[in-house]
Amino acid sequence: MVGSVGIVSNGSNGEVERLPPEFVPLEITEPLSPMIENGGAMQVEKEEKEIVLGRNVHTMSHAITEPEVDDDLTGDREAYMAGVLARYRKSLIERSKHHLGYPYNLDFDYGALAQLQHFSINNLGDPFIESNYGVHSRQFEVGVLDWFARLWELEKNEYWGYITNCGTEGNLHGILVGREVFPDGILYASKESHYSVFKASRMYRMDCIKVETLNSGEIDCADFKSKLLQNKEKPAIINVNIGTTVKGAVDDLDQVIETLKETGFGEDRFYIHCDGALFGLMMPFVKRAPKVSFKKPIGSVSVSGHKFVGCPMPCGVQITRLEHVNALSRNVEYLASRDATIMGSRNGHAPLFLWYTLNRKGYKGFQKEVQKCLRNAHYLKDRLRAAGIGVMLNELSSTVVFERPRDEEFVRRWQLACQGNIAHVVVMPNITIDKLDDFVNELIEKRPSWYPDGEVQSTCVAVDIGKENCTCPQHK
Ligand SMILES: *Cc1c(COP(=O)(O)O)cnc(C)c1O
Repeated sequence: MVGSVGIVSNGSNGEVERLPPEFVPLEITEPLSPMIENGGAMQVEKEEKEIVLGRNVHTMSHAITEPEVDDDLTGDREAYMAGVLARYRKSLIERSKHHLGYPYNLDFDYGALAQLQHFSINNLGDPFIESNYGVHSRQFEVGVLDWFARLWELEKNEYWGYITNCGTEGNLHGILVGREVFPDGILYASKESHYSVFKASRMYRMDCIKVETLNSGEIDCADFKSKLLQNKEKPAIINVNIGTTVKGAVDDLDQVIETLKETGFGEDRFYIHCDGALFGLMMPFVKRAPKVSFKKPIGSVSVSGHKFVGCPMPCGVQITRLEHVNALSRNVEYLASRDATIMGSRNGHAPLFLWYTLNRKGYKGFQKEVQKCLRNAHYLKDRLRAAGIGVMLNELSSTVVFERPRDEEFVRRWQLACQGNIAHVVVMPNITIDKLDDFVNELIEKRPSWYPDGEVQSTCVAVDIGKENCTCPQHK
């Protein structure tokens, strides 16, 4: 079913048909020129998996085919499409079962919301200002925002926020607010921050300083301090991680604030955005975690809705101070609203899913789920350690980091996220002890076959997770 240039296969019987002549399919389907593969900016290092723009897209696709004249009569087309969808559904069920690496909670039941999928719900514009478009879910959106504002301790009349399309959008917004408050500010972010933070600095053409991290993945405040001291003349905009992507490390917000004050940065010279995409909704329920609160001098917090919260579509929440957002908003007559968001149209279904799940679980429900995740993460760490595999689990985290399995097929099957020599499993509420047992048992069983003569030897991961966690011959 691979579409080749200018023709598409309809998949069912291998026949091909031409696209109508108005299209220039060459522009869509032709791979990028070989020049780009062989040189220039796209060249990648030999040992990395090769990622070439435009080449990896067409390995598997369901082609769009033109209806036959008599399709309506025969019902063949409907039947063909139903077949494709049924197979797709089956593969989703199968892939959901073996999913460990990305922090998505796949445990939910939103059957009650099925009745709403026939509506084109769009919350474009400001959540707090009625637009002329009436098919919206603002009443749910604001309810959800109020809940998060309360969680992060900001009064209803002092906050502004919206439901974003993802955690990245929250970061883009938070950093933009910081930039509007301090137009000549420098962006500081630990080098283990999410790539969206560095994307923001490129998009906004901001000076960005990468701060070193500890082995745990937390921001290294000693390095932060020396970098602040070198740039004392410019205000600081800081991205603080509430859970880093790879190691699940939680930056110490209190220490960051303390460091700013020690170096002479008063509250009128810094802006802190908290990237809580990963653990923003988990940390409030962990006793020893540095508390994220607007009672501290922070400017914004964002979280992803499809990670721990468990929405079936990408979404997120962004909360900031009302006073800041006026700096970046513009009135738009066409919307009869105000433009203070990154995106224009916004998914109006997402607030309904968030509202539904927050109502069902409440603070207590999330607390229980957090405890379960942390317990299960410890279980996984202990089992891997017992099997002689190098492993690390941060105290405030459900992200278990370990030696990358030496078999890409295994990595793909369990959908592990990898970086260099390490892989991770993010233990979300849908990941049960049974599933973890299946995973570890399979890992132990297959591991010897990845080494010559079946002699397992741990990879050195000391630089990634510390030598105390490494089980290579040199460190064990
Ligand atoms: C996932 C993640 C993001 C981005 O969130 P998306 O919803 O995928 O856009 C940002 N920061 C961190 C730390 C993340 O883990």
